Amino acid sequence: MSETTTISVRPEWQLELAKAIRSPAELGTALNLPADWVARHSTARELFPLMVTRHFVNLMQPGDPDDPLLRQVMPHADEFIDAPGFVTDPLAEQTNQQPALLHKYRSRVLVILRGGCAINCRYCFRRHFPYADHHFGRQQRSQLLDYLRSDSSINEVILSGGDPLLATDAQLASLLTDLEQLPQLKRVRIHSRLPVVLPERLTDALARRLHESPLQALLVLHANHPHEVDHKLQKALKRWAGYDITLLNQSVLLKGINDNAEVLAQLNEVLFEARVLPYYLHQLDKVKGASHFAVTDAEALQIAEQLRVLLPGFLVPRLVREVAGEPSKTPLELITD
Ligand code: SF4
Repeated sequence: MSETTTISVRPEWQLELAKAIRSPAELGTALNLPADWVARHSTARELFPLMVTRHFVNLMQPGDPDDPLLRQVMPHADEFIDAPGFVTDPLAEQTNQQPALLHKYRSRVLVILRGGCAINCRYCFRRHFPYADHHFGRQQRSQLLDYLRSDSSINEVILSGGDPLLATDAQLASLLTDLEQLPQLKRVRIHSRLPVVLPERLTDALARRLHESPLQALLVLHANHPHEVDHKLQKALKRWAGYDITLLNQSVLLKGINDNAEVLAQLNEVLFEARVLPYYLHQLDKVKGASHFAVTDAEALQIAEQLRVLLPGFLVPRLVREVAGEPSKTPLELITD
């Protein structure tokens, strides 16, 4: 009798993800950081766990506690500051009645496809989000399709999270097949930071599937600093651009990380080399534990003005703030504090 053995091969990005660093002490050792500094800040991991891929760590400067990439992921004692106005649900998303689905804006819905991420960004506006209550399973998928059928004004589905690219290529292809049955839909948009921390996630198989879809495909990256965009990521992005996938980037304006027009100009230059156009520069959402990242509106407007001088218009992102309940993102110059 012959025996058949099934070997399941995990994609490279999943193998890399399994090696992610989750302990401040391990991160400190990998970067040769002062042990007393690491010990002082590591208690903040109890507020939000540490998680960072080795690819992202390799882009950091060893021995520098102020490295702009390290500051985005390393727990910090300032996260214990209880700053006025900084709350657990800054965009009022947690009272949403429909699990895993947010319908904030008229023609598009956002799907919380996966609860986890490949990196935990300390400033994340969803750092307190109850992902366990928003699992996207078979039932939620069926509810999503019913919801879309019931509202013909929706023409775009945004896959978000957490990080939607934690779903496998097969899972994404299967969802795409369902979405393609809805004639009202024009676009599918993927919001993801995963390629920045694991460039191998931009597989050819997924790009090909998106290319073959009658829906127009967009990938909206999230990169904040030029050091995040290395040659490997640029190469992967150019390959995806070759499949007619529109590539955009959004950044969050972060004190001590990218609150500098020269840094942001460099970021948008290196992204454009990889065919990525700027989309939004977000003012920080006032989430509890992240007040030390806040840049004042006056400073933000000044940086935006300097950016307009440094860059051609098509490389200048729109400076916005998301205001809970508003029908669109709000340009910062329209907001008077
Ligand atoms: S990748 Fe995005 S959703 Fe995940 S922690 Fe960072 S900002 Fe938040």
